[in-house]
Amino acid sequence: AAKDQGKNRFLTFETQMHEQLLNRLDQEARLRDAVHRGELRLHLQPVVGVAAGQMAGAEALVRWQDPEQGLRMPGSFIPLAEETGVIVDIDRWVLLEACRAVKNWQDEDPATAPAWVSVNLSAAHLEVPDLTDQVAYALSSTGLSPHCLVLELTETVLMRDLAVTSPRLEELRELGVKIAIDDFGTGYSSLGYLRDIPVDVLKIDRSFIDGLVGNGRQQELVNAVIQLGHTLGLRVVAEGVEEASQLNLLTVMGCKFAQGYHLGRPEPAADLYTRLSTPALPTAR
Ligand code: C2E
Ligand code: MG
Ligand code: MG
Ligand code: MG
Repeated sequence: AAKDQGKNRFLTFETQMHEQLLNRLDQEARLRDAVHRGELRLHLQPVVGVAAGQMAGAEALVRWQDPEQGLRMPGSFIPLAEETGVIVDIDRWVLLEACRAVKNWQDEDPATAPAWVSVNLSAAHLEVPDLTDQVAYALSSTGLSPHCLVLELTETVLMRDLAVTSPRLEELRELGVKIAIDDFGTGYSSLGYLRDIPVDVLKIDRSFIDGLVGNGRQQELVNAVIQLGHTLGLRVVAEGVEEASQLNLLTVMGCKFAQGYHLGRPEPAADLYTRLSTPALPTAR
């Protein structure tokens, strides 16, 4: 009987493995189809100019309207997309949609439109040979000005292979687009790459903003990063600002741009547009 039980346990284990594999294959197939089935959604989160207290730019963040599981956040499908290469299709879609949405907004209502839109690029995408062509196409087909587009890359991605990354970034910058280091301070990085890699924007990771209030040591660190960025001529953005007290501290430190739930959550591009753009009402006389 003991032997039978052991065998059953093994079968159960094997069945579970099998189910997990099927589940993964199913997820992968559905994710692959999501792009051309029109299940991806573009959300925009404001990047606020601290002095004016108004949206200066916006970050494009993807969501998946999964027919089986509802609206899904990137954390639940980007890892699989990266493993399977589907990320390249997703990023290409986001790039085009983000350029389109912001260009339309700039045309419709320049007073409230974001001056720039930033798009996240995965490691895999940086290695796609026609990345520069894809970016050029997104710009030319939508009419968005190149200096209105920022490409966000994490330190880890930038550092992967400097010999490949550097010329690639130069190519992109020759188009006129800007490069941002995303999640600054969390990667496997050295300051040396700030010298070697051409970047325009530095985004301080939210882990440095979290717990900022009441931690003098952390404040000194963030302050130093802001000054360093400014000295190098970079635009510095603080990520993950959730409280007014954090924003106040950052303002005192001279940080010019901030992003976070305190200033605006990511929302569908159309909703943000409707909320911020002034409806073209006839002026009362
Ligand atoms: P990220 O590029 O660092 O984007 C910022 C993330 O922080 C977003 O999460 C945003 O919703 C969240 N966030 C913003 N403000 C706050 C705040 O005040 N508090 C907290 N706790 N979080 C805040 P989201 O949208 O879940 O995206 C997570 C990550 O997924 C992004 O991090 C980015 O690395 C990746 N991602 C998102 N969209 C894309 C995409 O289109 N392509 C690629 N390759 N990656 C993407
Ligand atoms: Mg980002
Ligand atoms: Mg970030
Ligand atoms: Mg991140």
